[in-house]
This record gives sequence, structure tokens and C-alpha cells, in this order.
Amino acid sequence: MSEELSENVLESYRDHCRDNEIEIVQSTKCGCFFCRSIFDARDVSDWTNDGNVMSALCPECGVDAVIGDASGIPLSKALLKTMNLHFYGEDYIKNNPEAARAYVARYIDGHITPKPRNEELFLKYLNVLAEQGDEKSVLFAAEFYERGGQFIRPDLDKALAYYTEPVLAANSEALCQLGALYDSGAAGEKYGPKDAFECYAKAAALGSMKAVYLMSDLYLAGRYVKRDDRFAFALLEQGYDEVFSGYLQRHDYQDIFPEFNYRIAKAFEYGIGVNKDDMVSLRHYLLARFSIESAGLFDLKNSPMVADMDKEMKLLARKNKLHPGPATFDSDTFYDSFVELSDETVPGSIAEAVYDEKEKTLHFKIDFESPQILTDIAALSIGFIQGETTWDFYGIAGFRSTGSHFTHIRFEGEESLRFFQQSGDDFDLVAEITFLGEAKGLVVKTKPSKPGAGK
Ligand SMILES: [Zn+2]
Repeated sequence: MSEELSENVLESYRDHCRDNEIEIVQSTKCGCFFCRSIFDARDVSDWTNDGNVMSALCPECGVDAVIGDASGIPLSKALLKTMNLHFYGEDYIKNNPEAARAYVARYIDGHITPKPRNEELFLKYLNVLAEQGDEKSVLFAAEFYERGGQFIRPDLDKALAYYTEPVLAANSEALCQLGALYDSGAAGEKYGPKDAFECYAKAAALGSMKAVYLMSDLYLAGRYVKRDDRFAFALLEQGYDEVFSGYLQRHDYQDIFPEFNYRIAKAFEYGIGVNKDDMVSLRHYLLARFSIESAGLFDLKNSPMVADMDKEMKLLARKNKLHPGPATFDSDTFYDSFVELSDETVPGSIAEAVYDEKEKTLHFKIDFESPQILTDIAALSIGFIQGETTWDFYGIAGFRSTGSHFTHIRFEGEESLRFFQQSGDDFDLVAEITFLGEAKGLVVKTKPSKPGAGK
């Protein structure tokens, strides 16, 4: 009987799904003619708001196709099906990719109830967008099939089909993931580390930092390429400057920063491709661990990589008799924190500096304008600092200053620490702290053998 409803009647019913805030609030039951479910009106908690109009979003599927029973419309599964076929026929999504896009986005943002039917819909729309050549959707579909959803199992054949779509040929993320699949053997016997190498090389040429550490892994393991520890380390070293700077200044590389630090830490710990250095190793482990915690990278948190990091850090701490504790604001900590930042902008100002010539001590305050990472390796301590900090340095041969505001901090070997103010291409010296040659103050436990120190 409902099939016989005239187009006019259906259109008039549909009008109730727009600008329906009051009607929904007055309703007991609601129905959605997109996913055809009937639910309690109190379950509606999300609304579109385009301009001044509020329309209910279906709690089940997230589409604004909700009608409340206060409208007087006799809600039934049969009616919802009729309306669904009428307004959202088979071709609806194909002809309205923006509706698919909206659904996909809402699904990813977690606004749609996770259940098998909705995940199927999500994947169906994702496929529609992917088939239309939308690069992001193709990548997303590939990743979805690789990992599987909450209800849908992984399908590597489909994942590979999407990863190898021409539209992703210059997508570095896709190339890295495809390379990893090839390398793991998951893509079948036809593919191996050679194909992985080619993918990483392409991605690296496109500027991917992820590809850089993945390539380094191949050199370290001697997979496809001849094993070459020095070159594996050199790759990490070259990439680290960009990753470090991007992480600090632009909050970029959140998931790549820990991967680089972990590998560099390991290299320094075991002397793989670089001279052994426990303290530099620890600094990189601390940075890796800290960046995972502060970015809330939950996927990584329970990974074998983190478990290994914690194990290695314990080993190094025991070997060097280090005990976790609060950071000390001394010259060692200052060194640990800022030695790698000579090329970065670290704006702040120095105040209240008191140099005691007899005691060879320097007491001063620094007001940091932006958050900085404070690292005290000896105390296994790392964290953010911002604003005013108070420092006490020992074994100081001299202090001079011409101003207070600085933009750059540079250690000149083990002799001095300088603060500069950048103006254009020039760096004006603002202050200089000179260390006593044999003083105990600056126990330079960490030689400035930082990755990327070559320049
Ligand atoms: Zn719905």
C-alpha cells in the first residue's frame, strides 16, 4: 500500500527531515529513511547546522534523514523503505558523491554507531569515492582493506589493488605502506624486498621521511641491498635534521619522530654504523619515549618497539648508574636539552644573571617564549618547559651580556654557551657563558656527536 503513495505525499514527508528541531523534541519515536531504522527520539543528539537551520542527524547512520512521529506521519519500516528507494535509489550515492563524502567523514570521526551494517555502508561509499579516483579515498580504502574494520576482515588482495592504483603512484604514504607489504611477504611470493626498496626510493624522492627510515632498515638488515651499517646510519642522520626541526617547530612528523629516535638510539647504544655513546643513545630513547607519550600514539604505546625501548633504557641506566629523578637545572641539563638546537629558533630572554667570580657560579633566569623539551639524561628525565626557569651553573669562567632577548642558543664546543639575536641574516651576540676548562661544572658526558652535526 505504501508504494502507492504519490510523489507529492513523499515529498511532503521528506520536508520533515529539515529544520525539524522542535518536531523531534516533541516526538517519542523517530525514523530514518536513509538507513531505515526506527529509534527513540531521545537518541538524537547530533544536528546539522547549515545557517540557521538545525536538522536532526540519525544516531544510527549519521544522515540528516530523520522524521519524528510528532509530524503525524505513520512511521513504519515499509514507509521508510519506500522513501529510501524513492530518495536514495541505487544511483543516489554515485550521483551525489558529496553525500558519500559526508558519510565517510562522519564515520571516521566516530559520529556513526559502529555496527556491521554501518561499516558496510561506510566501505560501500568509500569504494564509490575511490572508484571516482579520489586520491584520499583510494588510500583510505587501501588502508581499510589492509587492516580490516571492526566487523569486516582484512582483504590483502583488495588492499594491494588499491595501493597500486595509478592515482597513488606518487603518493608517498601509499608507497611506504605498499613497500612494507612487499617486504613482509604479505603480497605473495612474486614480491619481495626489491619491490619494497623501489617503493621506498620513490617515496624518499618525493620527500617522505618515513621512506628514509624504512630504507635505512633495509640497509641495516641487508635486505635486497648489501648490508651497510654506516650508510643505514647516514640515512637516519641526514633525515633527522628535518624531522627534528619539523617536530619542534611545526608539530610535524609526530609518528615519525619516535621511529627516527628509536633507531638512532639503538645505533649509538650498540655502535651500529656510528661510535658507541651511551648518553647520546639515552637522549634519543628519552626523546622517542617522550614523543610517543605526549602525542598519545596509542598504537605505538603497546608495540614491541616501545617494550624494547624500555628494556634498553633500563640496561643503559643500570650500566651507567643513573637513577630516575627530577631534572636539575644545571649546565648538564642545559646541554642535554639545547645542544641539538643550534639551527632552531629558541626565543626567550635572560634575566637576573649573577656571576660569582670567587665561587665560579652563575645564577640566572630564562623566560622561554615557546615550549621547549627539557632533557636531563642523568636523571632520565624529560618534559616540556615554558616561561620562566631558574638555572644554576657551576665551574664558570666568565659571563658577559649586552642584552636580554635572544632567538638562538649555541654551544661552542665545550668552551662556551652563546645566546644570539637574529636580525635578518645577522646573528648578534647577546650573552656568553664561558666554562672553566677543567671545571666539574660542565661534565660533558655527551660529546657533540649529534646526528646531523656534520655541517
Ligand atoms: Zn539513519
